Amino acid sequence: MALLSDFQFDNRFAQLGDNFSTRVTPEPLRNPRLVISSPSAMQLLDLSPEEADGALFTELFSGHKIWSSAEPRAMVYSGHQFGSYNPKLGDGRGLLLGEVVNHAGEHWDLHLKGAGSTPYSRMGDGRAVLRSSIREFLASEALYALGIPTSRALCVTVGDNPVYREREERAAMLLRLSQSHIRFGHFEYFYYTRQHTQLRELLNFTLRSCYPECLKEANPDLAMYREVLQRTAAMVAGWQVYGFCHGVMNTDNMSILGITFDFGPYAFLDAFDLNHVCNHSDHEGRYAFHRQPAIAQWNMACLAQTLTPYIEAETLKAELAHFMPIFEQHYLRLMRRRLGWAGAQRGDSKQIEQLLQLMQDSGSDFNLSLRLLAEGKSEVRDHFIDRDAFDHWLAEHLHRKGNNADQDQALQANPIYLLRNYLAQNAIAAAEQGDFSEVRQLHSLLAAPFSERPDAMEYAAVPPDWGRHIEISCSS
Ligand code: AMP
Ligand code: MG
Repeated sequence: MALLSDFQFDNRFAQLGDNFSTRVTPEPLRNPRLVISSPSAMQLLDLSPEEADGALFTELFSGHKIWSSAEPRAMVYSGHQFGSYNPKLGDGRGLLLGEVVNHAGEHWDLHLKGAGSTPYSRMGDGRAVLRSSIREFLASEALYALGIPTSRALCVTVGDNPVYREREERAAMLLRLSQSHIRFGHFEYFYYTRQHTQLRELLNFTLRSCYPECLKEANPDLAMYREVLQRTAAMVAGWQVYGFCHGVMNTDNMSILGITFDFGPYAFLDAFDLNHVCNHSDHEGRYAFHRQPAIAQWNMACLAQTLTPYIEAETLKAELAHFMPIFEQHYLRLMRRRLGWAGAQRGDSKQIEQLLQLMQDSGSDFNLSLRLLAEGKSEVRDHFIDRDAFDHWLAEHLHRKGNNADQDQALQANPIYLLRNYLAQNAIAAAEQGDFSEVRQLHSLLAAPFSERPDAMEYAAVPPDWGRHIEISCSS
């Protein structure tokens, strides 16, 4: 076990120098309180959960104290936002505090989101509100527990500083953990500003720090691109299988590690709807649920463009063409698990499509329907309007499952508790009144979403009427 006060830092990204990031000191929160912490994320840093109870924990993660060997920096990057290139973005409200090395030799970036203004804040105040910090915390914990690659969240703190969005809110900070904070947009920034020396430096750094195994390959750059593509396709498959809508799949929100990154107005689907758009600023539906795989591939094309100084365009195009088949393969594998189907059969894809079409037509609750199917409960029928069509599908499903179906495995793939918008909303409303117990309760359920808790079955319910169409904006 490590002590928070004795953290060992090795700030490799900071050492790349001022072309890559700018030194900035966090602006502390007034009268900070700890909203929530994650014991499993603390473990990544070799911390015991009790460390979160000490005053030092809250001081460090609300910008009041800083380790002498940490080196807080705002990173520069750019990116394609809603399809258009934005030449200069960067950390406008978050700082890479430094890289902690754990007992296994892993480097973990400590990124404090909401730490105040930076040279990249543009018109923004550099702050994050409590609502969005809680949402990011819960989502990364929920995705992690579902087995979907994601950045992690160590804790959320809140202060008395007022922050003005559509209304006055409280400033908060989220401590995000990831083994890298390099985004596709980092590569785009150096490529489009024609800083090819720095682009090469970034590529070498990413290879060394994130993809050392690729350095053994004949063409390390290509090997890395291939690996990012595979991971990104697998990640999006996880999203589609659990109904996760990211909401802002801009290239600056795409991690070079192929993990879910930068949570904004995301949503887990309640009623199944391929056309669901969770970000109410997304008027064109660019990031609608069903478009996510194609958008991820589009983002991979943006990344490919930045590698054209090193890899033939034709070679990159050929790699990019593998995205959808890889996605499909992961998607089918995971859907079969949810449905309890052993092995792979030729008609699987069609049978899954038919189920989703029935759900789309009925507005069936995506997660609950699949959970009831896995439990073998006949009440699943009640979620479908065309009962005859569903009965027909069910007969084929039972036939497909056969006798060697693994019921336990299906139950382990179908969560009882899902981070539904209405649950997050209830927890946020209480937290805004100073009561953090709801956030903590919801977190404990989402951290073990497959385990039934008889005292908390109301959290497994579909949304009440008011909770069906909650609009989430980008302004957070
Ligand atoms: P996001 O939508 O959170 O991915 O942010 C997009 C860009 O806007 C990033 O460069 C952020 O750092 C920046 N940004 C978002 N909110 C703020 C804010 N309140 N203050 C300063 N910059 C912000
Ligand atoms: Mg972002």
